[in-house]
Amino acid sequence: MAEELAETDDKAEEQGALAAEPARPEPPLPALLAMPLLRIEGVVKKFGGVRAVDGALLDINAGEFFALLGPSGCGKTTLLRMLAGFETPDEGRILLNGRDIAQVLPHERPVNMMFQNYALFPHLSVRDNIAFGLKRAGMPRAEIKARVAEMVELVKLKGLEKRKPDQLSGGQRQRVALARSLARRPQLLLLDEPLAALDKKLRESTQVELMEVQRRLGMTFIIVTHDQEEAMTVADRIGVMNAGRLEQVASPRELYEAPGSRWIAEFVGDINLFEGNMQSRELNRLTIATRDAGALAVAEPRNPVGKTDVAVAIRPEKVKLSRRGPVVDAINAHAVNRLEGVVADVGYLGGTTTYKVKLASGAMLRCSMANTTRLDVDAYGLGQHVVAWFTPDDCVVLEQ
Ligand code: ADP
Ligand code: MG
Repeated sequence: MAEELAETDDKAEEQGALAAEPARPEPPLPALLAMPLLRIEGVVKKFGGVRAVDGALLDINAGEFFALLGPSGCGKTTLLRMLAGFETPDEGRILLNGRDIAQVLPHERPVNMMFQNYALFPHLSVRDNIAFGLKRAGMPRAEIKARVAEMVELVKLKGLEKRKPDQLSGGQRQRVALARSLARRPQLLLLDEPLAALDKKLRESTQVELMEVQRRLGMTFIIVTHDQEEAMTVADRIGVMNAGRLEQVASPRELYEAPGSRWIAEFVGDINLFEGNMQSRELNRLTIATRDAGALAVAEPRNPVGKTDVAVAIRPEKVKLSRRGPVVDAINAHAVNRLEGVVADVGYLGGTTTYKVKLASGAMLRCSMANTTRLDVDAYGLGQHVVAWFTPDDCVVLEQ
């Protein structure tokens, strides 16, 4: 069986990972209580001239559901493979429970990895796929039986235990892979694009199931995905990677509402960016003179921006449209950013409608509105003159 399993790198690694001892939680040491479960310190991995992972610095706490998000080729899988022990960092350290695991072999780490292609054994039944690692670890038969039953229950595969992988749907195969990777109760489960092969509806329901499983087991999950909605749905915190570097680590809301850089703002969700210069600052209110949208007022509670070249960022759903503009009194008249334009594009998407409003400068302002009524009483037509407005609080200032 060993030769058969060594067909591909992934399978050989899988075998190593599955052959491990059952993970035994280490007794908590008082001195290390402040340590996160996992600490990644300045980890670098080079392939030839490419720095696939470039100085990652990250703490992950026990019980967290963490997502690594980034475009294809940014180093997500490489970072995960270093955590699992299938790649060795060129620089930096990985600490698990405060202990450097550089010298710990993959199968000796209380870490398991669920691969992108599931790597199920085609000739084994669901039950035997799940039991595989437990048998290799020498678990007594009765315990294996009980554990497999528990896993089958957990991932809702009851009644399908005798089927082979090719007699299962994509979603069911994904569950078998999940059950197999959880069977040995690792402290840390790494999931590399676990839902990429599923269609949208199934992916969404499986995301919810994955969260339920993670909560029920109280385990630490790190999921890799290039799908930002998926990351936002499942994760407590998200680390966004760009060309090997972790650009920002934040909660989904913070990432979306307070992006740390222009790159993040544009990568996560849709956004309007207006480039300009700092004109004046009054307490926490900045006035930015933008090229395409005139002077914009921005509330900036964060540290004052050092540079004068900045961009004002505003999410499309924060932009309101009206025929005449917001009702304002003398006191707050100056507090609202107000831009006139003409509707140049309308995209009806069911729950929302997106508009592109052509401003006097010729620049487009994107706006998305929830369709809160069935009849289109609030809809705007092509060529219609509109007033777009948004508050200083809804804007973010980003350095160029
Ligand atoms: P992601 O999972 O984010 O798509 P990867 O971690 O797979 O990205 O890859 C990051 C970079 O490292 C890419 O440029 C990729 O081509 C390169 N890379 C990954 N694995 C290897 C390898 N074994 N040998 C050479 N280059 C690699
Ligand atoms: Mg990958």
